Amino acid sequence: MLLPHNPNAFTRSPLDRAGHHRRDMAWLDAALEAETTLLIPFHKQRPLVVEESGVVAPGWLGAHARAGIAPPGACTLFLGLDDKGAAHFAIDVDDAAKLEGLGRFDDLRALGPRLSRDDLAMLGPAKAVFEWHGRHGFCANCGAPTLIVEAGWKRECPICSAEHFPRVDPVCIMVPTFGDKCLLGRQRAWPRGMHSALAGFIEPGEAIEEAVARETLEEAGLKVRHVRMHSTQPWPFPHSLMIGVLCEVENDNETIDTFELESGRWFTREEAKLLIAAKHPDAFAPPPFAIAHQLLKSWAEE
Ligand SMILES: [Zn+2]
Repeated sequence: MLLPHNPNAFTRSPLDRAGHHRRDMAWLDAALEAETTLLIPFHKQRPLVVEESGVVAPGWLGAHARAGIAPPGACTLFLGLDDKGAAHFAIDVDDAAKLEGLGRFDDLRALGPRLSRDDLAMLGPAKAVFEWHGRHGFCANCGAPTLIVEAGWKRECPICSAEHFPRVDPVCIMVPTFGDKCLLGRQRAWPRGMHSALAGFIEPGEAIEEAVARETLEEAGLKVRHVRMHSTQPWPFPHSLMIGVLCEVENDNETIDTFELESGRWFTREEAKLLIAAKHPDAFAPPPFAIAHQLLKSWAEE
């Protein structure tokens, strides 16, 4: 089966996760010695990057660098194998000074639009998993310190044996449409003129379409009558899965919840095209890197 084309950043990784190797300590030890293996250091959830002539790329190091930059117990996450079989790992580094001169640690979200699709798809999972490790050092069941196992993809409690897996938080993100126009929202903290899709966390016990209807009613006072799935995007800030939806609403009598949003505004399809092209006179949309842009683009071009 062919996967549907996914337009979103952080998807379509060039790596095969090869999850069957995660429990094979002998294989992992050998991979961490291999000449072809590549290692991307992270410090405080920021990847090492190098910049040359204005082009930013991950600061991949050879596996031999590992001993010099982190202690043996440092969290080392197996990311997968490339099409030549080379293993890729991410390593959590405590002491940034040990990498001085090799590049800089920088914020992945800020870097996002400057990194290639492949780079984002390889760095995103590491950012999300390291963020999770940083906040989940203790067992949620009994409170004991937990151990990192399975090449960084799980934590285990040595006292009560509970297993803990990296979190993924599902978020619905939607563009409500009515006839030939769509509603975008604005948050107070955003730069002047920026408008984007509505969004909210899916709650326990909710289907995606139910969450879309609830959030659209809560944030904009609009009743949803039809939900159309568009695409999804792993969003490692900190570890969400954005579920992109276009939803038709019953009317255009919006009532914006000003606790969550500053305002809402209807844009015609022609205006949406201008937003996508960054040519609208007094508003702009998120960059192509964000699923909100792809949702709006898809609707504008229908
Ligand atoms: Zn426990």
